Amino acid sequence: MENFLEELNDAQRAPVLHKDGPLMVIAGAGSGKTRVLTFRIAHLMGQGVDAFNILALTFTNKAAREMKKRIATIAGSSETKNLWMGTFHSVFAKLLRYDGDKLGYPSNFTIYDTQDSQRLIASIIKEMGLDKDIYKYKQIQNRISSYKNSLITVKAYFQNPELMEADAMSKRPRLGEIYQNYVDRCFKAGAMDFDDLLLRTNELLTRFPEVLMKYQDRFRYILVDEYQDTNHSQYLIVKALSDRYQNICVVGDDAQSIYSFRGANISNILNFQKDYDDVAVYRLEQNYRSTKNIVNAANSIIAKNKNQLEKVVWTSNDEGNKIKIHRSVTDAEEGRYVAGSIFENKMQLQLQNGEFAVLYRTNSQSRAIEDALRKRDIPYRIYGGLSFYQRKEIKDVLAYLRLIVNPKDEEALKRVINFPARGIGQTTVDKLTVAANHYGRSIFEVMEHLKKLELNINAGTKRKLEDFVTMIKSFQIMNEGTDAFTLAEHVSKKTGLLLEFKKDGTPEGIARMENIEELLNGVKDFVEGQKELVDATGSLTEFLEDVALATDMDADTGDDDRVALMTIHLAKGLEFPYVYIVGMEEDLFPSAMSMNTRSELEEERRLFYVALTRAEKQAFLTYTQNRYRWGKLIDAEPSRFLEEIEEQYVENLTPVSDGYRFKSMINADIFGEVDKSKLRQVKPQNGTPPSVKKPNENQLRKLRKLKPGISSTTTNTMDPNLVEGCTVNHTRFGRGKVLKIEGVGNDKKAEIQFERGDIKKLLLRFAKLEVI
Ligand code: ATP
Ligand code: MG
Repeated sequence: MENFLEELNDAQRAPVLHKDGPLMVIAGAGSGKTRVLTFRIAHLMGQGVDAFNILALTFTNKAAREMKKRIATIAGSSETKNLWMGTFHSVFAKLLRYDGDKLGYPSNFTIYDTQDSQRLIASIIKEMGLDKDIYKYKQIQNRISSYKNSLITVKAYFQNPELMEADAMSKRPRLGEIYQNYVDRCFKAGAMDFDDLLLRTNELLTRFPEVLMKYQDRFRYILVDEYQDTNHSQYLIVKALSDRYQNICVVGDDAQSIYSFRGANISNILNFQKDYDDVAVYRLEQNYRSTKNIVNAANSIIAKNKNQLEKVVWTSNDEGNKIKIHRSVTDAEEGRYVAGSIFENKMQLQLQNGEFAVLYRTNSQSRAIEDALRKRDIPYRIYGGLSFYQRKEIKDVLAYLRLIVNPKDEEALKRVINFPARGIGQTTVDKLTVAANHYGRSIFEVMEHLKKLELNINAGTKRKLEDFVTMIKSFQIMNEGTDAFTLAEHVSKKTGLLLEFKKDGTPEGIARMENIEELLNGVKDFVEGQKELVDATGSLTEFLEDVALATDMDADTGDDDRVALMTIHLAKGLEFPYVYIVGMEEDLFPSAMSMNTRSELEEERRLFYVALTRAEKQAFLTYTQNRYRWGKLIDAEPSRFLEEIEEQYVENLTPVSDGYRFKSMINADIFGEVDKSKLRQVKPQNGTPPSVKKPNENQLRKLRKLKPGISSTTTNTMDPNLVEGCTVNHTRFGRGKVLKIEGVGNDKKAEIQFERGDIKKLLLRFAKLEVI
């Protein structure tokens, strides 16, 4: 069993063999920090330390599972089961189940998620008769959360005149009372929110010395991975628990500290040597994960940060390919490039889907990637978030759209009748449901005939119900004369959905708003795409059907070998052979919200460092020149981070000169001078170079129609080898078989049976088809 130590280099072996006392391993990405932690646990167990006496804190539960698996192969699986290992939240929730009763909590306490917390705060604000435009429940929830993470309890709050004054200045003098009520109500409900799991643990360990001693004695060895991202509350717990034996081992990389927006405190790692006596500091320098190109490129980026501990990272791995940078014209095309590239690499190199990851700065970017992967039949999994169409805010918009198409849709109605809040309570909905059942009609029909029915609903509420009916009917009228995009945009605004998420101003609210923005982009894309169909109009019904099919397809992919899609934040600690980092554009990455100060920008740069260092063999960086935001094309500028990588490590797949050629094509076409036969010869993946003025929205719309000739994944469908019986791939509808070809010239059409079930007639002039 001891020969596992041979799987470590000398530098790694030292902290693994380190006897008792505090130690810290500071090292760059991929140098084996997590491996050291894992092997140290196995080694301790090998030395006779009881697994019961070891506590390991990881960044994700997935990481904990993987470490346990590894330890089990070395130390045996039955012993390994006794380890306490997991995230701070999961480990201390467990501890509170045992000892939370001392604080008055039942052992089966409920854990409130953020939404539960927000709903409770909203109702408290209402009950207190406060102005909800001043006391915004989400902002208040955020505030309470950060108080808790800084260990500012209600009592501490009321003893701190500065805090109270600050809240009074921001016109919220009663925030303390809300805080108090919120804490009381949670307590009465036997519930803890996420922050309570840490706060109450701290409280327990401070107020009950015998409990502290019990756990100090139990957890004689404490190990913490990703120490650079611990917050104050977590820091104090670790400090308290390790105080007696001082057998604390932390590993981390200040260059990968990316959670300061959530209260993570980089000084925890910087101050570690002050917090404990005789700290042994170990450094690892050899990277085992990535190629030389990737390691060197990552080093060249992080060197631009001023505030960091000095570190050396090198590798004896292969040189590897250069990092590939790809530019596309729109975000949809970026998605197609990524899907196409994954497809090609898979085929050429015989790879599994699971060897690829697509990383992005914000969740909303996944939509374009998902769509493209689906069309290529490449299975994927979204980590740390619901599939795009399952997200709450997307379901909210879709529910309104469903209601417009079919007002009898009861689930849709219940979802949105009072969202955004319009004062139609549950009791009213219950009464409507009873009436609907009684008359054998839908709820919506009952609402339409309120005046004729004798329902025990007061006049004010009746008016609200009638307003709702009128609003939906006005959407229905609009639906008859307009396309799905115009309608969906109108609905998002008119119902107050967008405003609802916009006004709360929290990162979560902004993310939701961005998701709705992405949905609208998707509708726009859809409507544009429908123009090539002979018998389609780009209507709402068609769109909803498309979405329903998309989600159905997602659900039935049974295999487990999937491309991983996730935000960079979630990718911390993970590794994949092939990594695509998409959306490398200014205002997206670095994010527009993180460019106000040097320290914010440095955190974005660390995030880029984390992203790039996930790649083992090959990294791809993609950006687009035009991104749809709010249904409008926005000029996007390449990210400054692209320039920060030393040139020798990158390869541009889309040289600027191609872009110039392409640009002249667009202009020629706009002025009616283009020779389309020439256009088809233009190489794929072209775009306008950043230095020239980009086409406006109208010009771009034309350009989008011309995509068959210029897109990277499609070929000209007027091509003679498109014959009846041949198999084709359509960028949106997937694979299909040509049943019939009819018409000539501009009117030439093909009837295609698509594998997903439907038959469509496509105008070849516009169709985005590829003959397989
Ligand atoms: P990060 O900073 O991204 O969290 P890390 O420092 O925790 O990275 P690990 O994940 O522990 O690094 O190791 C990176 C990769 O290198 C893993 O696949 C690991 O198995 C491998 N590795 C580490 N040390 C060795 C070694 N001595 N021999 C072979 N492979 C190693
Ligand atoms: Mg690690």
